[in-house]
Amino acid sequence: MKTIDKTKPVLVTGATGYLASWVVKQLLDDGLTVHGTVRDKTKTEKFEHLLNAEKQPKGKLIIFEADLLEPGSFEPAMQNCELVIHTASPFQISGIKDAQKELIEPALQGTKNVLDSVNNTASVKRVVLTSSMVAIYGDACDILTTEDGVFTENHWNKTSSVTHQPYPYSKTLAEKEAWKMAGEQDRWDLNVINPGFILGPSLSKRTDSTSINLILQLTSGKFKTGVPAGAHGNVDVRDVAKAHILAGFTSTASGRHITAAHEADFLEMANIIRKKYPSLPLPKGYVPKWLFKLIAPAIGFTRKYVKNNVGYDVKFDNSYIKKDLGIEFIPFEKTIIDFVDQLIKDGLIKIK
Ligand code: NAP
Repeated sequence: MKTIDKTKPVLVTGATGYLASWVVKQLLDDGLTVHGTVRDKTKTEKFEHLLNAEKQPKGKLIIFEADLLEPGSFEPAMQNCELVIHTASPFQISGIKDAQKELIEPALQGTKNVLDSVNNTASVKRVVLTSSMVAIYGDACDILTTEDGVFTENHWNKTSSVTHQPYPYSKTLAEKEAWKMAGEQDRWDLNVINPGFILGPSLSKRTDSTSINLILQLTSGKFKTGVPAGAHGNVDVRDVAKAHILAGFTSTASGRHITAAHEADFLEMANIIRKKYPSLPLPKGYVPKWLFKLIAPAIGFTRKYVKNNVGYDVKFDNSYIKKDLGIEFIPFEKTIIDFVDQLIKDGLIKIK
């Protein structure tokens, strides 16, 4: 059991990201001091939304430079912090050229580097790591191997590799390494957040986040002929940020946390958007699996990915996070509509 002093700064790695920006904003709104790391301090366009967010709230934001691949680079930002929230990690699911370099090294070596720095920084008492549901399962068809037909925190992804599902593999290796390093000492403890697919309004106008990009594609007409079938876990970005903060400050919190609220597929999302924005070129049905398999390589997916993922509905048990952190999830319709409203307001989706 750990009590974290809220008057001490909190380190958030990868503060520019879609999720991390909300973690930073909620901490600032609560009046805390945040040490946010960015890869390049000269690229102010990547984090100006955080500086704007700092203008109103009660908290204080200090920006530091750090890179996952540079050992020791997080140490200056970690000074005096009792809580480290490690979210930085590349998130890419298609079009990967060199999985080892693009995904696995930054995720695994980055987690090692951040935790080596935690070991060298006496003030740190707790680390909250952003893992993923993909560290729980690799392919949607893995659901068939579960005893009760649902994924729980007891499951681990055993089916991904550097050549098949490298992003899930990178998250699995990173989370396993974090548990190993946490178990080798007893000064700091580890809490892990395992989000499903994160959706909801973005604090920046960046479009390079996979979550944002996917909704832009869904509303652009690219999937007008249909979307692949198969429900997965979805969750609001504001709830995932809140889960990180609760996992940081709830003294009794422990373990892995499935952070997914709603089982839904892309057609269900499109149907919610269509009700409010009927003029958008949204999909009205599912693309047949054989057709998706045929075109998969041309759109950055392997045929094995399609075989093992399309047409399987993923089910999960999210009772632990509700009990351990007391979280209540935002309704799915609100998440989707707030997301699309923000993208329209920022000019990223055009309504004719
Ligand atoms: P994002 O917007 O792409 O943010 C990723 C962050 O990681 C960015 O701040 C990026 O910095 C940073 N980063 C990447 N490589 C780095 C490196 N070598 N050194 C330092 N920082 C680096 O993605 P996100 O969706 O917010 O994802 C945040 C976390 O949530 C990740 O750990 C991801 O695996 C996890 N997650 C996401 C989802 C989802 O649906 N979005 C679901 C489950 C888990 P730059 O700004 O410099 O690029």
